[in-house]
Amino acid sequence: PYDVLVVGGGPAGSSAAIYAARKGIRTGIVAERFGGQVLDTMSIENFISVKSTEGPKLAASLEEHVKEYGVDIMNLQRAKSIEKKDLFELELENGAILKSKSVIVSTGARWRNVGVPGEQEFKNKGVAYCPHCDGPLFEGKHVAVIGGGNSGIEAAIDLAGIVKHVTVLEFNPELKADEVLQNRLNSLPNVTVLKNVQTKEITGTDSVNGITYVERDTNEEKHVELQGVFVQIGLVPNTDWLEGTVERNRMGEIIVNKHGETTLPGLFAAGDCTDSAYNQIIISMGSGATAALGAFDYLIRN
Ligand code: FAD
Repeated sequence: PYDVLVVGGGPAGSSAAIYAARKGIRTGIVAERFGGQVLDTMSIENFISVKSTEGPKLAASLEEHVKEYGVDIMNLQRAKSIEKKDLFELELENGAILKSKSVIVSTGARWRNVGVPGEQEFKNKGVAYCPHCDGPLFEGKHVAVIGGGNSGIEAAIDLAGIVKHVTVLEFNPELKADEVLQNRLNSLPNVTVLKNVQTKEITGTDSVNGITYVERDTNEEKHVELQGVFVQIGLVPNTDWLEGTVERNRMGEIIVNKHGETTLPGLFAAGDCTDSAYNQIIISMGSGATAALGAFDYLIRN
């Protein structure tokens, strides 16, 4: 069996695996996609001590660093469930069972879907989630941004510099984004903000040709012709597979203490899948290190 089995190969998992392996204990890492969300990121300018880099480049460095140590890397493998018997038993989608004395979950998060007709159908045909990745595809076109929180308004400001026009749709009567962002947005000539509206449908034929929404105070249905829709309503933690094993909050984030411990002894968690206040690369790496040191402490006591 492993001493430490890390589930998830993003910044948190990579950091956890390196910290564990450096203690000279048997370490494995299972990842559906090594690199995680970093792979979908274009420019990174806040990873302290590296002035500027690109996501795929950072993901490659993460893997290279993990490979410096005798860590078993099991890439393109998805965890299905976990059970604690004498040892932890992690079942993979492919049916294999991996055993370990301790486990660090770092399965990150994914974009939240808005769940209206057309969203699935037109994914990558006008429906997008990553303005940094897909913004340039909509140069000179009209796009919508669903969501008026920080990520939605940041996306709208970013897109306004590339596309012809941006329409922001916010469900609540007011935007939730920070005031500095709202002020910046309001200073832009090619942005329309619709508040108190509910997105009803993303329409199209081969690709997106519009969005239908309802004005919540009048119940009136309206349609805007446009070519792209960016969904920016937050992240969902990848923790469904842990159902019934550890305590999670209302959002599905795993609750951890300052040692990275969950409610199940020997099971630790780190990064965007936890109830951490902020989701950033440097923060995920820090919590990955914390969870590995926590797991090491647990191993020497048990
Ligand atoms: P993730 O990066 O989500 O990694 C999760 C890992 O778990 C992946 O390997 C995934 O494949 C794996 N996994 C998931 N489910 C399973 C399963 N069931 N079984 C096995 N493996 C599984 N942060 C910054 O600091 N600066 C930025 O400039 C920045 N820009 C961003 C831009 C975009 C477009 C996005 C999406 C994010 C950005 N972030 C940025 C946030 C940053 O990428 C995340 O906070 C960070 O990647 C979280 O790391 P993590 O290891 O917790 O999770």
